[in-house]
Amino acid sequence: MRKKIAVLPGDGIGPEVMHEAIKVLDATAKKHSLDFNYEYADVGGTAHDKHGTALPDKTLQVCKSSDAILFGSVGGPKWDNLPKEKKIERSSLLALRKYFGFYANLRPAILYPQIVNISPIKGISLNGFDIMVVRELSGDAYFGNSILEEDWASDEMKYTKQQCRRIAKIAFEIAMKRKKHVTCVDKSNVLSSSIFFRNSVTEVSKTYPDVKMDCMYIDNATMQIIKRPMDFDVIVTTNLFGDILSDEAAMLTGSIGMLPSVSLNENGFGLYEPAGGSAPDIAGKGIANPIAQILCAALMLRYSFNMEKPASSIEGAVKKILEDGYRTKDIIETGMKEVGTKEMGNLIAEKIK
Ligand code: NAD
Repeated sequence: MRKKIAVLPGDGIGPEVMHEAIKVLDATAKKHSLDFNYEYADVGGTAHDKHGTALPDKTLQVCKSSDAILFGSVGGPKWDNLPKEKKIERSSLLALRKYFGFYANLRPAILYPQIVNISPIKGISLNGFDIMVVRELSGDAYFGNSILEEDWASDEMKYTKQQCRRIAKIAFEIAMKRKKHVTCVDKSNVLSSSIFFRNSVTEVSKTYPDVKMDCMYIDNATMQIIKRPMDFDVIVTTNLFGDILSDEAAMLTGSIGMLPSVSLNENGFGLYEPAGGSAPDIAGKGIANPIAQILCAALMLRYSFNMEKPASSIEGAVKKILEDGYRTKDIIETGMKEVGTKEMGNLIAEKIK
């Protein structure tokens, strides 16, 4: 069946890496007899310059009529001084998250054994690791009552049962397809919202008897993820802790240019974007790593289209190319072959064919 994909390349390296992701999707479609219909739309600073808004109506319509959103990245120094309500990320990406009600952010952090030497913890994790951070996106201090006065300030951390249960369910469903292990990360020795979150996750765990569940405080989790990352499978956590923990896990993999992410809503509709930003320091130089954007395409096939085999074939091709010694600048080591954005895309697409 034909799948319609809203393609929003955005700013900086966005269009460069998106070009390679589409190339790889085309190769995958050919190999597995799939039919993708891409509809391109402007977003971010590029859209602001052309249409006076970072999220034009036309772009929203394209997203609404699609089966999934493949997003590049937005922002850059050119637009840094816009007023608060026009800030690029806030008025495009956050607006999309809000509009579609994305509540679950899945962030795989995978250290491939092939590039273990570029990880800051190379001595610890010689065989690599594969962690999925499931971050709750709709509650916590980001959406509670926020007060900033001259002499005091406060942020409310609020969660409802429904918010906790639905994110827990996502985590357990994902764990069922992986190593069947969920770690709930919170601060329930101090925070009521964390006690509530942990209790809700524990309740949901009872409906997944095949999945092992354990709990960890966030301060300990930040240490254990460095000390023994290979012992984690799925981590489920609240919005604020997830924000921090997913970046920590990302850094352990050596480069943010390798990591995809997805935000999902209640209907399984998803926005797929690389973990990194628009990388203005390397934009236009043809050296950005396209693997994060390419792996976004693989995640889209898996989570939005239920196409496990084609998704695995993209991931397999990425691993093979790394095994063959090809590296973009951000993951280069001595003795390896340095390639640019386009060449990396070509190599992965060729491997799929
Ligand atoms: P960044 O992720 O863009 O860059 C941080 C570092 O990582 C840079 O050195 C960059 O060169 C490198 N990097 C990122 N992606 C890479 C890739 N694919 N290949 C190789 N190297 C890569 O973060 P930043 O510098 O804090 O932000 C730059 C701009 O991006 C800002 O305007 C920020 O608001 C925006 N941003 C957008 C998103 C998004 O669109 N989701 C996310 C984060 C930041």
